[in-house]
Amino acid sequence: MVNQNIIIALSKGRIFKDTLPLLAHVGITPQDDPETTRKLILDTNHPHIKLLILRASDVPTYVQYGAADMGVAGKDVLIEHGGEGLFELLDLNIARCRLMVAGRPDAMLQTGRLRVATKYTHSAECYFAEQGRQIELIKLYGSMELAPLVDLADCIVDVVDTGNTLRANGLEPLLHIADISSRLIVNRAAQKLKHRVIADLVKQLDAYLHAGATP
Ligand code: AMP
Repeated sequence: MVNQNIIIALSKGRIFKDTLPLLAHVGITPQDDPETTRKLILDTNHPHIKLLILRASDVPTYVQYGAADMGVAGKDVLIEHGGEGLFELLDLNIARCRLMVAGRPDAMLQTGRLRVATKYTHSAECYFAEQGRQIELIKLYGSMELAPLVDLADCIVDVVDTGNTLRANGLEPLLHIADISSRLIVNRAAQKLKHRVIADLVKQLDAYLHAGATP
């Protein structure tokens, strides 16, 4: 199937787990389990295909600069990155969730400048600017749910799946910003120079996704 080297960037956890069956369908199987190995470059059964295991928010950067040809990244991460130099080839329909404003039930009633804690600073800024709402952004890197509980912020912007984490902390999803799923991305150079190989891969994945298969 492939006659050129292809490096695919992925993140551990949810995205890797959900991407595995898709890769298996196109004949790609990693030689190591990223949850147990300390290797960051994984060989696959295919001599020309390697996987890079990265932090989710770094996937677009590795692909943008050509350290990886392709990658799988959440739309939330792509919005924050800005997508420069990247093409979204496919919506893989995996790791689905929603980007939301969340907080205590009465958080939005607060008048004046809203304190918003998030790692999604670009998305939060754009969303509240569209709403015409003045905010103070507080950049965090994790455990955003804690911020309203200790009065660091009035609300948070975070991805929500079941909403269980919010509810366990007395918070609620309040406003929907965007539906999120993982996308297959490629950089401009790979798209041009490895077009045939990539187009073949995309065609097979697209057929699989549209056959109604559950990834
Ligand atoms: P849940 O309790 O099911 O709403 O999950 C919320 C927690 O899981 C939050 O801390 C999120 O940051 C994380 N999360 C949920 N869905 C995703 C996703 N698709 N990608 C990355 N993180 C997610």
